[in-house]
Amino acid sequence: MKLDLDVRSRKVVVFGDPVGARRAVRRFHRNGATVTLVSDTPAPPPEARLDTVRYVNQPRTGDPSALLRLVGPAWLVVLVGTAPGLRLRVSDLSRRLRVLLVTEEPAEAEGRVTLVGGGPGRPGLLTGDAVAALAAADVVFFDRLGPTTDLETLAPAAELYDVGKSPADHTVGQRAIEGLMIARARAGQTVVRLKGGDPFVFGRGGEEMTACVAAGVPVHVVPGVSSSIAVPGACGIPVTHRGLSHAFTAISGHVAPSRDELAALVQLRGTIVVLMGIANLGRIVAGLLDAGLDPGIPAAIIERGFSDSQRSTFTTAGRLPAEADRLGVRSPAVVVIGDVVTVAPAYGRTADLDELGPGGPDRAPDGVPQW
Ligand code: SAH
Repeated sequence: MKLDLDVRSRKVVVFGDPVGARRAVRRFHRNGATVTLVSDTPAPPPEARLDTVRYVNQPRTGDPSALLRLVGPAWLVVLVGTAPGLRLRVSDLSRRLRVLLVTEEPAEAEGRVTLVGGGPGRPGLLTGDAVAALAAADVVFFDRLGPTTDLETLAPAAELYDVGKSPADHTVGQRAIEGLMIARARAGQTVVRLKGGDPFVFGRGGEEMTACVAAGVPVHVVPGVSSSIAVPGACGIPVTHRGLSHAFTAISGHVAPSRDELAALVQLRGTIVVLMGIANLGRIVAGLLDAGLDPGIPAAIIERGFSDSQRSTFTTAGRLPAEADRLGVRSPAVVVIGDVVTVAPAYGRTADLDELGPGGPDRAPDGVPQW
């Protein structure tokens, strides 16, 4: 059951130890509640510094009048991993006073890092494990390619930390990101590093995992839907197709591949998927043609896959750079080269294999691929 309560300006009283209850406190605070955290730990937690958060050190929770003073004014009482005796007393009192009561699992005491694959940008393409990791996060380090629009809702207790805006502007350098994640985990926080697609496909997830392991910080990986497969799929291109291609290779165009690599790709005769390839498209295509690729082989560029402005352009390998120029193709985009492009339902509908403008027939109103 999911119940949406408007807690703005409501008095919420949280019972639990400061570490386990930190997420509940931050979540209710973020949603506009006036929060009182009650615990038997004498030292106030950092959350007590937030405005509208009050800390009450209450060593004698067995005292009925003290409990009445705390529960009486509350609109909602939250029990976070409290001992059975206290739980019983508080729930009894809440029932008698008709105060709403919810229970929550405590947040982990031990810090850790989870590298989460966020998929190609559409919240629905987050996995269940990704959603759970975000919901349990104290801090989320994200960049432009992950599903960033719903982050406030997906990670309601987390500090949201933007570490990179565009391919050129790395707001925070890679080593610095790793350092930040490790420092936060060491401070006991549950850290999520949210990445676009799958963390281990051109995502530097391997480096981040290695850095955590070297620092002795527990690290988990939640795989994601990779744009290398999903974005071609968003316009109906299967990366393999019986009779057309039984191999696909995803390459990064960030640094143009070498002649040898391109020659090997052409020989393989499988589907070629290029990520981060727009800036170097001319060089990559020239290299492939040099290595013997048939310039007439079908090709497609899918920009901003799964977004409202997804655009698919069908052409041929030889004409890719010119078409990309003519249409002002921009990153993020996936380029697909191979006969599988002809399987796209929209491919056959374009008379001269030219542009399908924004809102072309490859996109259903809700963004879910459908034909
Ligand atoms: N780890 C990611 C890839 C990161 S590299 C993954 O598995 O998907 C970033 C590149 O991915 C972009 O330059 C672009 O080529 C591609 N990309 C990611 N999301 C995309 C989207 N929604 N539409 C088109 N291309 C996308």
